[in-house]
Amino acid sequence: MAICITFGTHEFSGMLEGYENVRAYCYNCQHWNGHCVTRWPFFTVCFVPLIPLAMHKYKEVVCYTCRFSQDLRDRPDITPDTRAPPNMQWGPQPPPQAYGGWQQQQDPSKQQPLQQPPQQESMNYK
Ligand SMILES: [Zn+2]
Repeated sequence: MAICITFGTHEFSGMLEGYENVRAYCYNCQHWNGHCVTRWPFFTVCFVPLIPLAMHKYKEVVCYTCRFSQDLRDRPDITPDTRAPPNMQWGPQPPPQAYGGWQQQQDPSKQQPLQQPPQQESMNYK
């Protein structure tokens, strides 16, 4: 009788608490599209996570544009209040129509031709 035990690893990941709204600068692609995530790898036996492979959760900054990731300890510039500057553009740009677009109105009355039918008076008294 054989007992089959499957070993493996499983990784728990999610948004880093308190950093959900952070937009950090990505040094790789120069976009303000870095998001803070946590990772915690576990050693699994029969697909059951038993032993954490790390003492702490990894805290990382992952760029949504280029998938570049950095340990948060290497980014002391990032705080829970880190945001992109308002004049900075981050990530793939939405089409310009998304901002409400332009509204060019044409005046239809300008195109109306001024025409008056010629009036012929035929008053012939004889
Ligand atoms: Zn990037």
